[in-house]
Amino acid sequence: MNSYEKNFDKVLQRIEKARIQTSEYSIIKIVAVSKYSTSEDVKKLYQIGQRAFGENRVQDLKQKMSELETLPLEWHFIGRLQKNKINHLLELSPTLVQSCDSYELAAAINKRVKNDKKVSILLQINSAKEESKAGVMPEAAEEIYHQIKEECPNLILKGVMSIGAHSDNQKEIQKSFEATYKIFEDLKPLGAKICSMGMSNDFELAIKCGSNMLRLGSILFKNI
Ligand SMILES: *Cc1c(COP(=O)(O)O)cnc(C)c1O
Repeated sequence: MNSYEKNFDKVLQRIEKARIQTSEYSIIKIVAVSKYSTSEDVKKLYQIGQRAFGENRVQDLKQKMSELETLPLEWHFIGRLQKNKINHLLELSPTLVQSCDSYELAAAINKRVKNDKKVSILLQINSAKEESKAGVMPEAAEEIYHQIKEECPNLILKGVMSIGAHSDNQKEIQKSFEATYKIFEDLKPLGAKICSMGMSNDFELAIKCGSNMLRLGSILFKNI
């Protein structure tokens, strides 16, 4: 095993341990966030089986996709999307836009979709209600989800995404994950399948709160 493999294996073991304690989902998907890493690093993870990667800037996504175009990867967009970058993003046909953070943004993406190429998105929820964070307020999330579903025929809403509370207090972080999960549950009858929450510092807690998609950056790429 090389060092990437060893590290990845350790992370997988931690995920598995948390999953068994929850056992709500048989599969928890990992999106490897490569925003601080190079295409060479992405290749290293690809070689040990990782296929889904995430970037938070359109420009960086474009560069990595083109440098790695020969590999069968799926790419997620996870960052703040400015309206003037929507066309650039859509040209890249990302697998999932996780960071749709308002009805207005959804409507703007919907309008720019060309040739019936539907775009899969998650609604980002600011469950910790932090000013520094993007996302809809949790009280408004379900109504906005409905509204997007009804009024944006070019979008495929697949669920919700949230970033855990920025806190050293585990209880605070847990509360924010639970708030997101509650909304996710309410939206299941509308077809919500993905609950994306959990990053390098809080993924075990996120799994225990019902996450089925982790966005892991530093723990997979740093200090290897
Ligand atoms: C950077 C980032 C991550 C990954 O963060 P790590 O703490 O490095 O795992 C996950 N989600 C979003 C939205 C990010 O911007």
